[in-house]
Amino acid sequence: MSIETSIEQLSSRLQALVQDTRVVLERAVHDYQDVVYSNSLGAEAMVLTDIICTYVPDIDMFTLDTGRLHDETLALLDRVERRYQRRIQVLYPQAEAVEQYVRDHGINGFYQGFNERQSCCNIRKIEPFKRGIAGRKAWVTGVRRGQSAERAQGEAISWDQRYDLWKVSPMLEWTEEDVWAYIRARNLPYNALHDKGFPSIGCAPCTRAVEPGADPRSGRWWWENPETRECGLQPRRVIPLKVEPRRAAA
Ligand code: SF4
Repeated sequence: MSIETSIEQLSSRLQALVQDTRVVLERAVHDYQDVVYSNSLGAEAMVLTDIICTYVPDIDMFTLDTGRLHDETLALLDRVERRYQRRIQVLYPQAEAVEQYVRDHGINGFYQGFNERQSCCNIRKIEPFKRGIAGRKAWVTGVRRGQSAERAQGEAISWDQRYDLWKVSPMLEWTEEDVWAYIRARNLPYNALHDKGFPSIGCAPCTRAVEPGADPRSGRWWWENPETRECGLQPRRVIPLKVEPRRAAA
């Protein structure tokens, strides 16, 4: 089945969401030209990757390999590249910084406290992310309103003061159910861990499965206060807006 045919067969709600997402991305490319997508390889990222590769291929893509990812995440990256016949730039942390961190705190030093955890995220995520967006005019993210009260206030295109470029959030109106309906309808690849109770997937030592119906991000940095559970790429999370039911395994 061709891309056009399968997208035409989506429900009218999904068709409208795809169209709105496409319009936001095309507007960003038109207005800023130099737009890059920071691909998290999560479920929303599979949708966004499909829409970008299908309709707005001028948008560059990179992803972060922290060195602590699950094998399933790396396998997914390979599947995505094969499906779209497109290379996704992989950014790694600076080796010297990682070595110094491990010398100072140990291989799993992030369990020692918030500062140690944030330091690890700074070295393995934030610094490579900043290299990924350096010199760009706009970056794309797959955040949804339903993920948190803070994200609920987001705008499709807004000035990102933390990084001094435009932030493009074309998936704000998608629900978790929309995301999975699209993944199934388009038979997209996705991380095998989603079928094992991992709704939100980060580094292996900092992610665990959650019970059905639990806050999807409660499996991330579960030993910390909920208000600190962000890696810093997105603004600090406040309180979950609502808990979306976990989808049934495909
Ligand atoms: Fe380090 Fe954990 Fe942050 Fe990954 S999620 S960068 S392992 S603290």
